[in-house]
This record gives sequence, structure tokens and C-alpha cells, in this order.
Amino acid sequence: MASSIPFDVQYFVEKSRNNKYEWLVFLITIILLILHGILFHWIPIYLRSKRTENSLNNPGYFKFLKTWDIWTSCIKLEIPGTKKSIYFQPSVVLLGALFLVINAVFCFVETVDLDYLPRYYVVSKRISKVAVGSLPTIMLAIMKNDLLTSISGLQHDRITFLHLWLGRIMWTMITIHFIMACKYWLGLDFVIMILIPPQIFGMMAYCSFFLLTWASLKFIRNLSFDVFLLQHRVLSFIMLLMTFFHNSGNRAAVLIAVHSVVLDRVTSNIISFVHKRKSPTKGMCSFEVLDEDTMSIDIPIHEAGYTTSAWYTIFLPRVSCWKPGQHIYLCVPKVNRFQFHPFTIASLEESGNMKLLVRKQKGFTKRLMTKLKKMEEVEMSNFEDNDGEVENREMGIHKLKVTFTGPYGANHQNFLRFDSVLFLAAGSGGAFVFPVALALLKEIDLRNSKSDFLHRPMNPKIKLIWSIQKKENIRWFVDQLQQILQLSNSINLSVTIYITQEVEEEVDDEKLMDILYHSSSSHNRTHSDVSIEFVFKRADVATLIQKQSMKLNQSQALAVCSCGSPSFTNSIKIHCNSARKANDSPDIYCYTESF
Ligand SMILES: Cc1cc2nc3c(=O)[nH]c(=O)nc-3n(C[C@H](O)[C@H](O)[C@H](O)COP(=O)(O)OP(=O)(O)OC[C@H]3O[C@@H](n4cnc5c(N)ncnc54)[C@H](O)[C@@H]3O)c2cc1C
Repeated sequence: MASSIPFDVQYFVEKSRNNKYEWLVFLITIILLILHGILFHWIPIYLRSKRTENSLNNPGYFKFLKTWDIWTSCIKLEIPGTKKSIYFQPSVVLLGALFLVINAVFCFVETVDLDYLPRYYVVSKRISKVAVGSLPTIMLAIMKNDLLTSISGLQHDRITFLHLWLGRIMWTMITIHFIMACKYWLGLDFVIMILIPPQIFGMMAYCSFFLLTWASLKFIRNLSFDVFLLQHRVLSFIMLLMTFFHNSGNRAAVLIAVHSVVLDRVTSNIISFVHKRKSPTKGMCSFEVLDEDTMSIDIPIHEAGYTTSAWYTIFLPRVSCWKPGQHIYLCVPKVNRFQFHPFTIASLEESGNMKLLVRKQKGFTKRLMTKLKKMEEVEMSNFEDNDGEVENREMGIHKLKVTFTGPYGANHQNFLRFDSVLFLAAGSGGAFVFPVALALLKEIDLRNSKSDFLHRPMNPKIKLIWSIQKKENIRWFVDQLQQILQLSNSINLSVTIYITQEVEEEVDDEKLMDILYHSSSSHNRTHSDVSIEFVFKRADVATLIQKQSMKLNQSQALAVCSCGSPSFTNSIKIHCNSARKANDSPDIYCYTESF
């Protein structure tokens, strides 16, 4: 049957339809992200902020959240024949499948009446347009500033996951388009059509996209993350440029994608510049080697006591201040001028100093450690040359200039609204958990002192668990532990440190206390209402979560906030989900960060 669209206008109709479906894909993805943010982040924040002293209002909504979490949370799959297991979230696979179905429908719908070309070539062109519809979201997902995380309520690592999988889906579709287009022109024996400049640009874009996709597999990222990042940036640039030249219809999508990233980076660089100018030391920071694998960095930001809670800091980047648990991207030009690495700010903004705890890995952090050790050797030899006379500098503290972008992240619910909060940190994960816990405890302390119980529980139970390998690791967050020890006993708080690689008999109790009480700047043993319990085994996370959950009723809320390795945080998600399934379980909010 002949098409109802006149032959001479079919090309233009096809073009406008292709554009329509390209933008529909973009729109649907963004709407889904906004919907996720509204349903699972912003509405819960609002409803929790209206709670009473005894319970949450709107139990129906929190029941819906619980049911949603039970059905969508991740599950653990054992790999047969090995001791390894993988964590898998069926709901994400379902969402991916739904997205693929939508894409597939868009690739075929309204192509039947376009008969001026063979249908498969019409579909091939549509496939490329629908695929390019994901490009702006893929690029928005690499923004470091918190626009997409605020809108969607998703954390940076989930957004990176989105970037990865949207990229893979787009690559698959472009591959199909490439094969079908080549088949069409070669079938017509029209080789010249694949050798004209726009097609050459298209092939160059495809080749760089091929490398981008396959050279970002996990094992390659693990080989050298810095090399991976460099090749990823170069290939992305080539791919975007060639896509721009390949087809004029792609230009709007490419321009939006590129401009969003450029705007993000320019904003970050301006803020980085302002930070440096406003810094009391103009970027000069103190570095200290804490042990074989760990360093600490002190970045002076402003005078102590300065805080801000201006409304715009929810969406806009912060200057001279940070939220507990946020991270920055740090560059040490003396180690590498062009590399920025993420590290969590382990201190509170009222201290005026950003404190970072850096664990040695294989790349930048290893080179930083080598640099500090060399500086230490030079310092030691100067010390010996001066017959033990110490210069007007602290021994072991090295000064280097840094620049950084940020702060970013820590986009979670307000823990003040929960009847019970369980903080779980493993190793350097304390860099996230300690400042978040400390800020909460200080706020509770302050409000208790004013008898202010508006929209928060009367007597929230706070439990802080930190798992470390050796007692010496206490030094990493000794400042934070000392601040916790100084809190008043008006707070229902328990702190337990699990030491996993030493047995009780080997550990000298007095030495343990010495680390805690004598490494403070004041060198005073402070009076404390809070005590720290030491346990010499692995923490049984499942039981801890279960116990905290069982203390609450259905109309109350438990928050589990954790940071550690991906396997640690994944297991916590699973245990939270098991706790949700119990009869009369409370609302359980699980927030995890992993690095
Ligand atoms: C939000 C966040 C907060 C973090 N906070 C801390 C912290 O407080 N303390 C700490 O010791 N570590 C933290 N990390 C991990 C830290 O960023 C890496 O250990 C560090 O970048 C390793 O650098 P490298 O070149 O020595 O590592 P490599 O040995 O080259 O890589 C090791 C791993 O580190 C990660 N990584 C390396 N470079 C980057 C990068 N530029 N961006 C993102 N990930 C990268 C990759 O997963 C990589 O597989 C955090 C990571 C993230 C994402």
C-alpha cells in the first residue's frame, strides 16, 4: 500500500519524527530521574521534617517506601565453585529492560509510512537518533556538582552507574545503526557513500565510541585508573566532535551534552580558585604520614567557628564551607599537576580545616606517600646536621600546596528525624561516618540543652560502630573520637570499636587509652560522659541492624548510615532489607557510601 505522505516530503517528515523520538528519550530519562527524586528523596525529607516527638506522620507513605525497598533492594548471589559472591539488584535490571523496550518501540514507531527508502534503512537512521537521545543524560551524569544528585536523590556512584549503562546501551544501538547503514550502501554497490566526509566522521565517532565502551571495563579501570581517565577524556572529545560533524541533526544533543560538562567544570574551577584565594594559607597545607599506608592532610579554609546554612547551598556549590560527609577532588601539583582525586572531608566545617585521611593505593596516592617519605628523610638529615636543633616547624608535618574542587555529595535524609541511627564504618570509611555522626550528636546535644524537640524524637538512640584492623588505626580519627567523648550524657549514645586483626591479650589497654586521650592537641585527659567499648572480633552487622530495628515500632524510623568497601556496604543493604521484612518493622532508611 502506498504511503499517505507524498514522496517528496517524506525525507522532511522522517527528519522531524526522528528528532521527536530523540528528544522523547531524553525527556523520559530526565522525568524518571526527577520522579525518583520527588518520590524517594524529597517527599520523605518533607514528611520526616513534620514528624512528632513520638512517631512519624503519614505511616501510609512510609509503608509504601518499605514495600518498594523490599521489592527493589539488592540480593546476593554466590558464584558456584568459588567463595566469591556478587550483589545484584533485580529492579535495576527490570528498569534497564523497560528502558530498552521504550527505545525499541521508538526505533520502529511511525516508520511504516516512510517508503521512500527500504524500511530497514529508515529504521537504521531512527535507531541512531534514539541512541543519541541518551547522550545529554550520559554527559549530565558526569557532572561533579550536585545538580543531578539533588534532582534525582541518587548518590554519585549510582549516577556513575547510570552513565556506564546508558553508554553501553547507546553503543549497542549505534553498532546496529552502523551495520545496517553499511549494509544498505554496500548492497547498492554505492561504496562512495561510505567514503564521503560525513560518513568518515561517523566512522571515526564510532571507532572512538567502541574504544570508550570497551576500554572502560572494570578490569581495565583497575589496571590504572589514571590512564583510564585520560583515554576516556580524549576519546570522548573525539567522539563528540565527530558526532557533531557526522550529522547536523545531532548537533543540539551534542551541544547540550558538551555545554553541561563545560559549565560544570568551569563552575568547579571558579570555586577552586575562590577557595585558594580565600584560604588563609593560599592553598599551603599540612601533610602527615600516619602509618605505612595512611596519610592525613589538613587544608586550612577559614577561621574556626564559621558555619553557614544558607538555603542556596542545597543546590549551589559551597564556598568556604561544607556539609558533613561531603568530598572534594584534590590535586597536589608537586605530585601530579593534572590529576584530581576524590577524598572525603573527615572534619566539621566549624573546625575551619578540611581534614582528609588518605589510604595508599597504586597510583597518585602511592606517589604522594613516596614524596612525603622523601621529605621526611630530608627533614631527618637536616635535623641531624643541626645537632638535634628543631627548626621552627613541627617534625613530621610537611607543607605542600594543593588545589581542590568541591565540596560535593552527602545527599542524604536528615538523621535528626530518626528515632534510632546506626552508624557503621569500616576502616577509612570513618572519614564519612565520623563527621556525619558528630554533626548529628552535636545538634542533638544543642537541642537537648534548649529542650527543643520540635519535629524530632525525644530520646533518639545513636549507635556508632567502627571496624578497624589494628588498635593503632584509632589515630586516624582520634580528633573525632575525642570530640565524641566530650559530649554530654544527655544523649543516648553507644560507641563500639571492633578490632579485627589483634587479640585482646596482645593489646595494651593503657596504650589504647593513651592514643585516645593523649594525642589531643591539649594533651589533657578530658572528663567524659561517653565511653568507648572495644571488641576483638568482626562486627556481626546483621545482628546489630536486627537489634536496632526490633527496638522500634512500625510508626518509628531507623536510619542505617554506613561507609566502607563495596562488599561491606552491599551486605548492609541486604541486612537492612531482611530487617524490613520482619513483622511490625519500623521505617528503615539505608544510606551507604563506598570507596
Ligand atoms: C566519593 C569518594 C570519596 C572517597 N574518599 C576517600 C577517603 O576519604 N579516603 C581515601 O583514602 N580514599 C577515598 N576515596 C577513594 C580514593 O579516591 C581513591 O583511593 C584514590 O583516588 C586512589 O588514587 P590512586 O591513583 O592512588 O589509585 P589507583 O590505584 O590508581 O586506583 C584505585 C581505585 O581508586 C579509584 N580511583 C582512582 N582515581 C580515581 C578518581 N580520580 N576518581 C574516582 N575514583 C578514583 C578507582 O576505583 C580505582 O579502581 C574516595 C572515593 C570516592 C569516589
